[in-house]
Amino acid sequence: MRIGLFGGTFNPIHNGHLKAICEVQKGFALDKSYIIPSAIPPHKEQHSVVDAKDRIEMIRLAVSSTPDFMKSVIISDVELKRSGPSYTIDTIIYFKSILPEDSRIYFILGLDAFLEIDTWKSYMDLFMLTSFVVITRSAAEQNDISIMRKSLENYLQNKISLNYKYSDSQLCYVNDKKKPVFFFDVNPINISSTKIRELINQGMSIKYLVPEKVEEFIKTKGLYL
Ligand code: ATP
Repeated sequence: MRIGLFGGTFNPIHNGHLKAICEVQKGFALDKSYIIPSAIPPHKEQHSVVDAKDRIEMIRLAVSSTPDFMKSVIISDVELKRSGPSYTIDTIIYFKSILPEDSRIYFILGLDAFLEIDTWKSYMDLFMLTSFVVITRSAAEQNDISIMRKSLENYLQNKISLNYKYSDSQLCYVNDKKKPVFFFDVNPINISSTKIRELINQGMSIKYLVPEKVEEFIKTKGLYL
């Protein structure tokens, strides 16, 4: 089984997240992907994060509006059930304990998030436990993919291990003691949850940036005003 894990705050989930999962699922022939909202994001300003129940409900609505996701995307509340901050290392250890032993796990994250991974708890251990799929993020990044690839490579070699080398045959960075790191261009939509919260706060429309059902939910509950 090939499994994708996509963690984040999802405050709220938006079409950029959905497109990213769709494309990684296809590109990596994933059997299943888990969307894993974090409880208390260790890296984010906490006052602007809406209740976990609302974030998970918006993910549920988004997944149900995406026919491709019906069978292959699972929403995991594992980080919401744990007390304290959500650390990815604990989540990976959890998934390794419940998935069949021969599962190949791909942790999916944006380049912006990956370039801060040395601030995460036990980050070196993460590279022993899971492969990474690092996805492109904004239109600016899109303009020069080679610069982005280079920033990933420099970061990997300087902060993680000099032994990470690009393999042309495997199309990823490989290291004999650590799991591979893939750089994957998802033709991203230039949108963020921050932008969506700002638009709502300014009374502007978020149509086409989130699925319609998510837009309705936000309106009905008066979130992010
Ligand atoms: P915020 O603006 O509140 O920081 P965000 O839009 O970055 O939120 P997160 O929930 O923090 O969303 O993101 C979860 C993961 O999705 C991260 O790895 C992030 O890099 C990635 N991601 C977010 N937006 C996009 C996008 N438009 N395209 C591709 N990946 C994205």
